[in-house]
Amino acid sequence: MPDASAPAARYPGAERITYEHNRLRVPDIPIVPFIEGDGTGPDIWRASVRVLDAAVTAAYGMRRRISWLEVLAGEKAMAAVGSLLPEETVTAIRDHRVAIKGPLTTPVGGGFRSLNVTLRQQMDLYACVRPVRHFRGVPSVVHRPGDLNLIIFRENVEDIYTGIEWSADSAEAADLRRFLDERFHIRLRPDAGIGIKPISRFGTRRLVRMAIEYALGHGRPSVTLVHKGNIMKYTEGAFRDWGYELATTEFRDRVVTWDEVQREHGGRVPDGRLLIQDSIADIMFQHLLLRPKEHSVLATPNLNGDYLSDAAAAVVGGIGMAPGANIGDGYAVFEATHGTAPKYAGQDKVNPGSVILSGVMMLEHLGWKEAADAVVSALEDTIAAGRVTYDLARGNDAAEVVPTSRFADQVIARLRA
Ligand code: NAP
Repeated sequence: MPDASAPAARYPGAERITYEHNRLRVPDIPIVPFIEGDGTGPDIWRASVRVLDAAVTAAYGMRRRISWLEVLAGEKAMAAVGSLLPEETVTAIRDHRVAIKGPLTTPVGGGFRSLNVTLRQQMDLYACVRPVRHFRGVPSVVHRPGDLNLIIFRENVEDIYTGIEWSADSAEAADLRRFLDERFHIRLRPDAGIGIKPISRFGTRRLVRMAIEYALGHGRPSVTLVHKGNIMKYTEGAFRDWGYELATTEFRDRVVTWDEVQREHGGRVPDGRLLIQDSIADIMFQHLLLRPKEHSVLATPNLNGDYLSDAAAAVVGGIGMAPGANIGDGYAVFEATHGTAPKYAGQDKVNPGSVILSGVMMLEHLGWKEAADAVVSALEDTIAAGRVTYDLARGNDAAEVVPTSRFADQVIARLRA
């Protein structure tokens, strides 16, 4: 196990990223922990890290580079130290503030809890941020995939992902069923498992604040609060109400609500104002397909955001190209949004785009925009040239299928060019 407490830097002069006055301070040679991931993780990481290193060199020469620090999680950690998420790994990520990870295995229906969820909760990474856009040349099921260009801010540590649930045959579920019956005259079936869905004002406000600050900082036209408040009034519905409340108090001079646009502005958003609107989750799924241009930044509770992020990614060509980040105050973990795709493990086959683009988000987060932009344009050119991994070749007879490593080689060649 690498020693997390020592700056086991590969490069002399490497330093930790620090957080001062609510801002990251990024040295020219930051130490960044990485988790390779399970299944196809190693194939993808090997390819992605070469792309990211080449982009930093292309943008800054020898002045800047990343000193990668491997930390263990998942199957590799279990084999090495007998724990799926060693304390040293969490400590190293906390100490270095910014990290990147490949996918990790999670069993369904029992066994250990998701390592991703554990990491998010232990570090209070309260926003899952997923940009979703189309890359020219990627096959899509819709006619105009370029119309969809979203940033989704999904609450990451509340809602059903808190993992407060009990199996139907547990003593806890029996106690709760009895309590609900005696106290509220609510009768559940005796074989009902029980889960609890907490959504707080505090959690909603900080998530919506992050989404609004992002929209204002990046010139985005609107933030849509997505919820299922017509049915779950005091959780999902409260998310909407608290979101509007936050917007119209903390950002009063810079935002306008949809209601205000109708009542006071003749249906037109006044110049320079960010539109705050809301949408019920089921309608939002339709909008993703039918009217994607009407949305720019989404803020959602956890479960709806989970479904929406993958559905949006599918519209523009699949999760092989969908990046993500888990962000808290002063901490960020960037990650592939797809899983471990175990059936392809070790085959040098799958698309490294999700981890590469997560790396792009990480470079932007470090303020290394030139390197981030360089990767995006090299990736766009590579896909447009039609020599792509198997998933991007589906439905495109003209495409030539290349392995993960060769796909990365092409991106790197375009960076250098
Ligand atoms: P998955 O690993 O995402 O794979 C589902 C399918 O998505 C694959 O069979 C493949 O489809 C496609 N796919 C995934 N990654 C791809 C890539 N890089 N390039 C191209 N296509 C890709 O989902 P899963 O099979 O449901 O989950 C497997 C394991 O991963 C589970 O243990 C799950 O809990 C875990 N997981 C982890 C994370 C995470 O760490 N963030 C997220 C989700 C799931 P085709 O075969 O049709 O080409």
